[in-house]
Amino acid sequence: MFGELSVGGARLGRTMNVLYLERLAELRGAAPQRSLDARALAALAANPGCRRRALLDAAGVDKAAVASRLGRPAPFGQSPFAISRGNLFEARLKEDGFAALLGPLRARFGLPPEGGPAPVVPDLLRRATPAVRVERTREVLARAAAEEQAWTLLDHPMLRLTVAGGPAYLEPDLLVVHGGRCTVVEIKSFPVLDGAADPAKVGAAARQAAVYVLALQQTAAELAGVPASADPYAVQELPGSPESSVLLACPKDFSNRPTVSVVDVRRELATTRRQLARLTRVEELLAALPPGTTFDLAVDDSGAPTRPAEELAAAVETVEAAYSPDCISACELGFHCREQARCAGAVEQLGRGVRGELGAIGTVDEALAAAAGAAGEGVEADAARRLAYAAALRAEALTGAAE
Ligand code: SF4
Repeated sequence: MFGELSVGGARLGRTMNVLYLERLAELRGAAPQRSLDARALAALAANPGCRRRALLDAAGVDKAAVASRLGRPAPFGQSPFAISRGNLFEARLKEDGFAALLGPLRARFGLPPEGGPAPVVPDLLRRATPAVRVERTREVLARAAAEEQAWTLLDHPMLRLTVAGGPAYLEPDLLVVHGGRCTVVEIKSFPVLDGAADPAKVGAAARQAAVYVLALQQTAAELAGVPASADPYAVQELPGSPESSVLLACPKDFSNRPTVSVVDVRRELATTRRQLARLTRVEELLAALPPGTTFDLAVDDSGAPTRPAEELAAAVETVEAAYSPDCISACELGFHCREQARCAGAVEQLGRGVRGELGAIGTVDEALAAAAGAAGEGVEADAARRLAYAAALRAEALTGAAE
């Protein structure tokens, strides 16, 4: 968000803040704001060079609706079946006062297995607005951290993380506060079979949990009135600060019983911090937009978009994208941006590795020309030489295969 200006005082800072929020609302149009969740933030952090995604996410634009209007909807996100299976499993773990989770959590935190104190489960005002819920979570976290002997379960706390100058609201499944520190518990419905789970799913859960840990580090620093450490591997010993290992609760061998594993997210935390810090600040992106740009779909009374697709495509085009094949599984606009990259013959469609290898070569045609020994002006001699060498090896291999 625009910082408070030292000249002109707080009133000028607030005015600019309002202008900033108004401009983001104009970009979104009449559609309700889509809030960034930890899953979206983890994906955003995976492609920090994409100004298009950063701006659309900051404005809370429904990217899936935009992609549909552009004629390239992406089958992106969790299936309704997976969502309902996840919700059911989580509800099962939390019923009867978290009965299914108490045993594994007691074991983890060194609490007596039976007869010990029951956990405190405060009301976190889940029906209130995100801002109120954030304040309630902070208040409860501070109180729970001060009572070192007690243990407290925060069911769906609300956290705020500043991303690219704007607030993102995050809602972990569960937080355990004990001994003055807190631990993130991530509940997932993928099974752990014979002690092993799908590494891709565990990796995605770890990246998501790392976003929560980052938000909790920021919260603990704010509560203590000190700056959050800039060192991603530093552990700040502050009341309520999070452990860098999270607990992953999954079904054990396709049953409804949970198994709880400890996952160290320090690496994911360092990556997320680095990537989010590199995100272009949203006010810079707003300043670069042509006047009047909006991503409003102009829906009619039935909710159907009326904005011409070409006009919407032109608006999307005003913000630079950084396509890579990973986008297909991480962003709702993946098919649209891939089509654009293909139409432009951009080398980005071949992946980040190839993009890096090709240096100043920007299109597939330029790469083919360089491979044929006719590199254009400005093409690095080294990249052109390697391409020509690879083309010669390929030709030799094909000739050998034909004989
Ligand atoms: S699909 Fe497009 S908007 Fe989304 S991250 Fe990739 S390049 Fe950016």
